[in-house]
Amino acid sequence: MDLVDPFGRTIRDLRISVTDRCNFRCTYCMPEEGMKWLPRSEVLTFEEIERLAAIFVERFEVDGLRLTGGEPTVRAHMPVLVAKLAALRVPASSSSPLAGCKPDLSLTTNGATFRLVAHELRDAGLDRVNISLDTLQRERFLQMTRRDELVRVLDGIEAAKEAGFNPVKINAVVERGVNDDEIVALATFGRERNVEVRFIEFMPLDASGHWMNDKVVSQDEIVAAINAVYPLEQVAARGSAPADRWRYTDGAGMIGVIPTITKPFCGDCDRVRLTAEGQFRTCLFATTEFDLLKLMRGGASDDDLAAEIQRAVGTKWAGHQINQVNFIRPARSMSQIGG
Ligand code: SAM
Ligand code: SF4
Repeated sequence: MDLVDPFGRTIRDLRISVTDRCNFRCTYCMPEEGMKWLPRSEVLTFEEIERLAAIFVERFEVDGLRLTGGEPTVRAHMPVLVAKLAALRVPASSSSPLAGCKPDLSLTTNGATFRLVAHELRDAGLDRVNISLDTLQRERFLQMTRRDELVRVLDGIEAAKEAGFNPVKINAVVERGVNDDEIVALATFGRERNVEVRFIEFMPLDASGHWMNDKVVSQDEIVAAINAVYPLEQVAARGSAPADRWRYTDGAGMIGVIPTITKPFCGDCDRVRLTAEGQFRTCLFATTEFDLLKLMRGGASDDDLAAEIQRAVGTKWAGHQINQVNFIRPARSMSQIGG
């Protein structure tokens, strides 16, 4: 049965945060100190994640699961979770292109320790990986992530390719006055290393609250900067994917841009989210959550959980209102929601 929201959007993609913890402290995401971590007992177990994922995939025909965090690789035994999720099957009767198959499994990571798990994750059934990289300058990397880990992240990208992930995508948040002078350098990196760089407009989900509209570098600016050096042509129709994509006219690959602020794609959004402590959210910017952990641990049946998921999806709003006066910042930062 499809999970359809009040605006007729069919939910196909579930983002699962496996931890709120992280080995980095990116300035646009976390404060340097003072994060309060969830106690272990309040984090979904692998069995609980598997149970909820099964409801989404096998009952509601969700065909994409993305594992995120916090930093998903800091959670132990991730290949075990991936193997459990790879055993799920999208119903054969589904209209999904993956009907009868396992869901598409992807992971977003900062890459610093990815080499240690790349092969195991691949063998367990992980299909795709996105690695975050906002700068190629060591000093700046230290400033942006508060960790001197550029070399290991670059190695993590190579490890992802060696393990057979294809394509490997790079996520680069662009913040004006911080790394916007590196847009072309990051594009060059993508062309040379054969990875697709996806530039992300800076969103008001930083724990420190320093986000301002002026700090957002727009999709138009990003594309213009790259196009001036490497001519681009837009690839038609993004569908429900958040990134608009362009290809280099010389055939050297693609870029993507996620224009959350300047060209919101809410009308095509097919995503919902589960936080590490089992709170179900129907939008990154939602201010309401549905407590699936409490329900599950209170003895709810799969039917009860499915009913709560449907009730929640029934409240999915048309779109965020970041550019409007009535926008309310979510109380959680990106790392606490699961980006
Ligand atoms: N730790 C992993 C990582 O950094 O890739 C996964 C979780 S992280 C929250 C997911 C993505 O959200 C990353 O690509 C990160 O750059 C992005 N992100 C975090 N805070 C953001 C913000 N305020 N605006 C835009 N993107 C942000
Ligand atoms: Fe950690 Fe990812 Fe947030 Fe950076 S963006 S602090 S790596 S969760």
